[in-house]
This record gives sequence, C-alpha cells and structure tokens, in this order.
Amino acid sequence: MFAQVALPIPLRSFFTYALPPDMTATPGTLVLVPVGHGQQVGILWSLSETPAWKEGEIRPISEILEERPLLNDDLRHLLEWIAQYYLCPIGSVVAAAVPGHLRFHKRRRAVWNGAAVLPADLPDTLLPLATWLHQRKTLTEETLATRLGRAGLKNRLDNLVRRGLITLENTWHGRHTLVSAAQPVAVPAALTPPPTLTSEQAQQAQRIEQAFQTRQFTPFLLHGVTGSGKTELYFRAVDYCLALGRQTLLLVPEIALTPQLIQRYQARFQVQLAVFHSRLSDAQRFAYWQQIRDGQARVVIGARSALFAPFADLGLVVVDEEHDSSYKQEGSVPYQGRDMAVVRAKKAAAVLILGSATPSLESLANVEQGRYTLLYLGQRATGAALPPVEMIHPGAADLRVQMRFTDLLSPPLRQALQEALAAGQQSLLFLNRRGFAPSLLCHRCGQAVNCPNCSVTLTLHKGKRQLICHYCDHRQGIHDICAACGQLALFAFGPGTERLEEELRRLLPEARLARLDRDTVSSGQVDLEATLAAFHDRKLDILLGTQMIAKGHHFPGLALVGVVQAETTLCQPDFRAAERTFQLLTQVAGRAGREEGSPGRVMVQSFDPNHYALQAVLNHDVAGFVAAEMRFRQEAGYPPYRRLAMLRFSATHLQDGEAFAQALRAQLPVSEEVQWLGPAQSPLFKLRNRHRWQLLIKERIPGRLHRCLNPLLTLAHALAGSRIRLEWDVDPYTFV
Ligand SMILES: [Zn+2]
Ligand SMILES: [Zn+2]
Repeated sequence: MFAQVALPIPLRSFFTYALPPDMTATPGTLVLVPVGHGQQVGILWSLSETPAWKEGEIRPISEILEERPLLNDDLRHLLEWIAQYYLCPIGSVVAAAVPGHLRFHKRRRAVWNGAAVLPADLPDTLLPLATWLHQRKTLTEETLATRLGRAGLKNRLDNLVRRGLITLENTWHGRHTLVSAAQPVAVPAALTPPPTLTSEQAQQAQRIEQAFQTRQFTPFLLHGVTGSGKTELYFRAVDYCLALGRQTLLLVPEIALTPQLIQRYQARFQVQLAVFHSRLSDAQRFAYWQQIRDGQARVVIGARSALFAPFADLGLVVVDEEHDSSYKQEGSVPYQGRDMAVVRAKKAAAVLILGSATPSLESLANVEQGRYTLLYLGQRATGAALPPVEMIHPGAADLRVQMRFTDLLSPPLRQALQEALAAGQQSLLFLNRRGFAPSLLCHRCGQAVNCPNCSVTLTLHKGKRQLICHYCDHRQGIHDICAACGQLALFAFGPGTERLEEELRRLLPEARLARLDRDTVSSGQVDLEATLAAFHDRKLDILLGTQMIAKGHHFPGLALVGVVQAETTLCQPDFRAAERTFQLLTQVAGRAGREEGSPGRVMVQSFDPNHYALQAVLNHDVAGFVAAEMRFRQEAGYPPYRRLAMLRFSATHLQDGEAFAQALRAQLPVSEEVQWLGPAQSPLFKLRNRHRWQLLIKERIPGRLHRCLNPLLTLAHALAGSRIRLEWDVDPYTFV
C-alpha cells in the first residue's frame, strides 16, 4: 500500500511513501515521514495500491502520530480546491489551514533495560542518574535535565547505553498532545428569551426555516439596514439548525469578535460553543478541533480561520459583514474567506447566510443572476428612523474663513459637539487615519520626510516623539530642520486621530473622551473592550477613532456621529475605493440613533462632497449607489463582471526588476481570453527596501482566467532568477 502525503512546505505535489504492512491508517491522519536526513510531520492524504511516483526509492512512513483523522474528506477536498483555485502549493494551504497541528518536536526518552539491581561497578558520577532510571524505568531527557541538570547529561546517558543498562528512544510530541480537552464553556443559568420578531423579520425567518427542511445547499444574502436586527435572524437560523442536530459555523471579522458578541451567543443557546480567535494557543485550538470533530461543540464562532474546523455535520454557515475586506487573507495563501465559506457550505449541503447592511457588489451580482436568494430588512428593529445625514464642505468659502489651516473640525461640527455635550448626549468621531499627521512637510522647499525603505512619507506621532512608517515600522526622531534645504521649516501636514484628540481636548476640556486606534490599543494605553463598554454605559462623552469604532457596536446613548475627512479612503488606487468608502461610512452613520425616540444626527465632513459614494451615504441610498457602481464596473470591466488576478514581483536592485519586467513583457502571449495590464511599477513602488512591479490580468471572456494563469506562472518562474521574488493573487483586494 502507498500513501500520498502532504507536507507543510511550499511544493505543488504530494509525496509518496510506503505504508508498512503492520501499519493501518485512514486518510487525513497525521504521520511522521522521513524527509532528507530528518523527519517531518505531514498529513496522509490518500492511499493507493500502486505508487504515484515511479522514480527513485520510496521510503516507508515512520509513524502514525494520531489514530483518528485530523482532516475529514470534506476538509481535504476544500483544501485541494483552494490550492487549485488560488494556484498555491497544497503544502502551503495545509500549513495555513492547520498551523498548530503540524508543530511536532522530537523528544528523547531513556528506557531502563530491565536489570534488577544496579551494577556494583558504577562510578559515582553515574550513580544518581542510574538510580533514578532504575526506579522510574522511563524518563524523558527533559525531565532528567530538570532534575539533574543539563551539563554532562548526554555523556552520562551515552555511557549508560554503552554499559547496556538503558536504551534511548525518540518520541514525537505535538504541543496539543499535552492537554486532554478545552475547558467547557460555562452554560449560563438563565438564558435570554428571544425577542418578538418584527413582521419583516418574521417573514424572512420563515424563509430560512423552510430552507432547512430541504437539506440542500441554500444560499441567502441577508441585506438589512443598520439596526434592522440581522443578528436576531442569525439566532433563529442557529435554532433551526440545532433542532436538526447539525452544527453551525459563524464567521465574523476579527475586529468584531468581542467578548460582548460571544456573551450574546452564550446567553441565547444552551449548547457548547467553540470560539476561534487569533490569540488562541495551539493547545486550545486543538482541543476545540476535537470537540468539533466529535460533534460536541455545536456552534463555532470565529474569524477567517474557523473555516477549516473539522465539522462532523455542518448545517449552517453564517458570514456576518460579508462585505468586509478583512475576510481576504494576504500572504502565501491569499484566499477570500467569505468565498471559501460559500464553497464549504456547498460541499456540506448547508444553509448559507451572508449578512450585511452594505453587501458587496459580488454578492449582489449573485442575487441578480439568481444564485442567491435575497432577504431584505428595510426597517430598524426598534422602529427608529435612519438618522438624517448632513454634508459639510470645509473648503466652502464661508467655512474656510472661520477655520485655521490646521483645524480638523469645521464650525458646524464643533457647534454640534458642544450642543451634544451640553445636553448630556454622546458623540462619536470617526477619522480613518492614525497618528498626529500623515507627513512632516517643509514649507520652504515642499519636501516631505520620507521613509528610507519605502516610497511613502513618515507619519508624525507626536506623543511618541517619533516619525513612523506605517508599512515597515521604521522609526526615527523628529528634527526641525529640513534635510533637503537646511531651513527650519518643517510642519505637521494633514489629519490624524492624535491631532483630532488634541483639538477636541482644547475645544471641550470638560468632556470625558477616549481615542481608539491601533496606537492607543496596542501600546496598552487604552483597553479596547473596557473603553467600548464604558462608552456603552455612558461613562464617556466622546469616542474618537479609526475603523475600530466603526463596526457592529451598539451604543444606545449615541446621538451625534461625525466623520472627519470622509475622502481618506476614496483616493486609493483601487477600483473598490468608492465601495469601501460607502460601506464604511454607512456603518459609521448607522451607529447613531439606534434607540427609539432619539433620531440621532450624522455629520459628514468632506472636501469632495459631490462624489456619488458620499451622496449615497447622505441619502441612505444603497440602491442608487449600487446602480452607479455596477455601471462603472461593467463599463471598466471590473468584478463582479470580470475576474482579475495579479502577479507581483520585486527585487532589491532596480535593474534586476526592470530587466525581468522587460523580459516578461516581451514574452506575454497575445491573448483573446485575457488582457494583460502591465507589468508596471506598483503605486507603492518601494516597500521594505524592495522595488515592486505588478501585472494585472483581466478576463476578456468569463471563466477563462485560470487557463491563462498556469502558463503565465510557468513563464514567470522560468524567467525569474534568484533575485526576483514572485507573488500572485487570484481575485485580489489590494492594488498598491
Ligand atoms: Zn526644505
Ligand atoms: Zn517604510
């Protein structure tokens, strides 16, 4: 019998090993195999009577590490599918999907050979070691080292081996084999009773319930305005799924995976939850895997990576905030988590719910083409109206005269903040740029202070007294003198949350305020959960910050939402810039006035107030935005009408990259199926001291993209020497 084994190394093929006759194994189990002069942990993928590999010697599998399969058939098919679709080595996909499980390390164990008494001629140096082994029979080298010290231990053990008293054996340990099971999640004593559904919710809940009866893959797009109670529909769906004895997978963006969210689920269901987040240890992760595989954990909540949990019987897949770009994984296996959730649900014949207040154009196109059923919630569950949105143009003549050059808050927004504070109401201010200012600029020669490693300006962080590169984390001190012209003429240019905080403290010194962005949170200066909770409980008057404050949170006392510089996301070199801006601002605006009786107020400040994305936010006009954006995508040939792929390459030396770009350009075939755009310099040309180029590949004929990608990669690999680094991305989400 022969086994194909996937090893967590970036190679496209499986490796063939012989299964010794005394060994039995099922596909999906963890195995130890010889690789070169060492041993490596891999996954037994499939078994065959004949070897898939005819050349060379076929070595036997060394050990089966776990009797029960780690990856069931469904999961192995999904991983193969990912490898094919994203053109990634199967080994890399496995390593990305089950990282912790493959970390095994070798341990040496000393075993006493059975001599009943200690020999009389043992030297004193060996006596303590020999005595202890004689009593205990088997001990690992680590235990011995802890007890007797590491110095000279190896020599003494070898000496005992030579005397025939002990043998040394190698064993393999995964970190997860050290724990038996995860702590069961405490089931609350009193469950929250489900609220009464609005008639709109009830209607959609009924359609979801019906879908469960078919036991077929049934995809829904749940489009509900902010505050319309999408979560309650997820809860009902989980109820239906649990009643059938099947399991649920709930994917949320990492940023939304808060203790409050988990508490809401715990308070609703009398079942075991498994919660995957990035801070989970290998041991905890593995324990959850066992519970999910055994069907004990009924509801699995997590970010992207929870996709790869080994469900025994998956009946429901929910992707909340399905438009969120954090579902896209970057790096060696650049998969789209939402899309893979669809594939997973399909393979499991599960009900699928993609939920959002601002669905992605891809999902809306799937509704249009009849692939998904639309569930629409147009009213807020509390009956509250959507808040009115006002647009403020700080560049307008009447406002410009009232503002200083460095002011971020326009007079109307300042006044609204003052009024809210005086009335004891809460305000939230959103600015999607951290730091004090995005650049330090010379007002004499116009030169900005740039990162030495990347082609971007350094962001000024006043509190840290540093200039920091947000791409490579280069840091340097702040100087007053311009390096280009030698004048004392540098000044902080542009907006940042740190500057906004300073301005607010000056304007409203009595306000209780907190800033949430990556700087305050990761430095430990501010606790994210505690701050959100404090704002929820009205212990703060003003909360300001970046995307961290934009999503999913429910603040009952929030009356005013202000958006400072709404165009920060608009001017990205990315065809999704308008869509992202619309989604983000709709989310932020939706935080206001969610309770009945307080309509709330939203003020959007922008230098580009007539942009169609901002106008759509102003009018709560999702349909209008979608129509305009779809038209643009169709005319320009972008997703969801055409698929894209991206080949990126980089080199330390400019000439190497240029030579490769030229060679590649010369050999790109003329194609009727796809259009090659580039290779051209990336918008962010220099990153971490490497020069970067990109080639965008656009489908001309739907469904033909992949036929052209494999030959392209073969060509690129053949042309690239050791100095060129290649990366590629199918359905890319970043274009810089
Ligand atoms: Zn200068
Ligand atoms: Zn940099």
